[in-house]
Amino acid sequence: MEKYFLFDIAHVIGTNDAKNFHQKMNLVDPISKLSAGPVHFAYSGWAFVDILPESTPSPNDDYYLIYNHPFSFEADSWMRSGKKSETPVCVMNSGYSSGWCEESFGIPLTAVEVTCKAKGDEHCTFIMSPPERIQEHVNRFTSDSKYVNKKITYDIPTFFERKKVEEEMRNARKKAEESDKAKSEFLANMSHEIRTPMNAIIGYVELMQQDKVSTEHREYLETLKDSGKLLLNLINDILDVSKIDAGQLVIEQTATSLSKIFDGKELLVKNLVAKSENRIEIVKEIDDSIADQVYLDSSRLQQVLNNLLGNAVKFTNKGEIRFGVVLKDEATLEFFVKDSGIGINEKNHTKIFEMFGQADASSTREHGGSGLGLTISKKLVELMEGKIWVESTVGMGSTFFFTLPYKPLSTTNVKKSNQIQKLEVVKNKLLLVEDNLINQRLTKLILEKAGYEVLTANNGQEAVDYFKKDLEIKLIIMDIQMPVLDGLAATQVIRFHEVEQKLKKTPIIALTAHAMKGDKEKCIEAGCDNYLSKPIMIDVLVDTIKKYV
Ligand code: ADP
Repeated sequence: MEKYFLFDIAHVIGTNDAKNFHQKMNLVDPISKLSAGPVHFAYSGWAFVDILPESTPSPNDDYYLIYNHPFSFEADSWMRSGKKSETPVCVMNSGYSSGWCEESFGIPLTAVEVTCKAKGDEHCTFIMSPPERIQEHVNRFTSDSKYVNKKITYDIPTFFERKKVEEEMRNARKKAEESDKAKSEFLANMSHEIRTPMNAIIGYVELMQQDKVSTEHREYLETLKDSGKLLLNLINDILDVSKIDAGQLVIEQTATSLSKIFDGKELLVKNLVAKSENRIEIVKEIDDSIADQVYLDSSRLQQVLNNLLGNAVKFTNKGEIRFGVVLKDEATLEFFVKDSGIGINEKNHTKIFEMFGQADASSTREHGGSGLGLTISKKLVELMEGKIWVESTVGMGSTFFFTLPYKPLSTTNVKKSNQIQKLEVVKNKLLLVEDNLINQRLTKLILEKAGYEVLTANNGQEAVDYFKKDLEIKLIIMDIQMPVLDGLAATQVIRFHEVEQKLKKTPIIALTAHAMKGDKEKCIEAGCDNYLSKPIMIDVLVDTIKKYV
């Protein structure tokens, strides 16, 4: 074992020395690279080398080198101490010279010492060849009539087997990483493909809900919309997991009003109360010593809170759910969601945060769920530099806690606010650029219902043409993936035209079914003012437009 270790070290030193020496001396062809070896070897005091004439050093499988070391420091040390070895001793010499030659010829080589002065032989003789042919060459040597009566002992260093295993491990790892990447890309693409038609389904249902319909149909529509949203949540969860796994999920911290988050319609609380059919009371608590404006990623915070609140309602039959936030210390916010539901056995307190981890299979059958919610929540909280955990007793309810760094922006403390935004009817002209006709018709209807006049273009080129005709377009809604001229290129052309004609900048909102890292940056870089990912929710689209016109 020790021997192999010395061989390996010397082999690596030989390879590196050769590399440096060849570079310094500007050597290019393998034979000059090899010939420099004995010179350097002798100079460094390792050994003298005498290459025998039957050698055929060629840069392929036929590579064969047989050589003597008239002097070798390893054999010399044995001889000087007056001892005789049973086996050849010049392991480092074999390693070093095979490393040197491997570097010179660019093929894997190993060397075996077949006779050794330390054993009492006349020479230290070495055979070098590609590892798979070494045994054949050694056999040829040992059956030579000159040596046939001598006791030849030798060891074939297994550096290459070890190297091969390492190489195989590296390749296997690379393959696994590639397939992991392919999996993430597949998931991201699939969820993109599914999100686009979901956009149409949910959007049309929302539109129909604004019309006069019978009570029965209203119920149908509500169910349709709920199911659509459920499906969309699942797709978003899968997309989130694949983004987190691919290291593509970026936390975007902005100034955020905590009271708005807790009161806002983004939290599912109101829906949840309705769904629980008033079985449960939902109570909110916010520590008033917390500044209202804090620096955090509001959409990811909402996502975690919604996951925990959704679970709390799912697993609670009656009683109360409390959720809120307290200032744990001056640098930490502690959020909590406490329910009076079925509780979780202590042995599952860790498992439920693992991928697909559910406390028990029967609860899945009864309550449904994919087991992704808490995994995503944990990953998100950790990405936001916090911690998440649960305290729970079976039958008594559960409290989920998570912390986030407290980064206050203002000194105004939290105030309770309950603003409800209403849609205003504004007769402004918008240009909607979208190649998918179903989505185009849907978005146009939504915008018209919200009181806008809507021009439509089927691709980026048409959009540019309309824009240049100066049709008093107040804002452009631009799909990104389109034929002829895509949304990013069209935006760039429009921005260029504005500069050339000294026009005021027209706001452009990008719409894309892509939701991967970098999409937002690409849109903003191309000149868009804002970015919405599909499926578009009516409120969000109209609210965004209202920021500009
Ligand atoms: P799921 O989609 O299955 O709800 P989650 O990751 O959100 O996935 O939750 C994982 C499991 O943790 C659930 O299946 C359930 O067994 C348990 N669990 C989560 N929240 C609660 C809760 N508030 N009360 C009881 N059990 C819970």
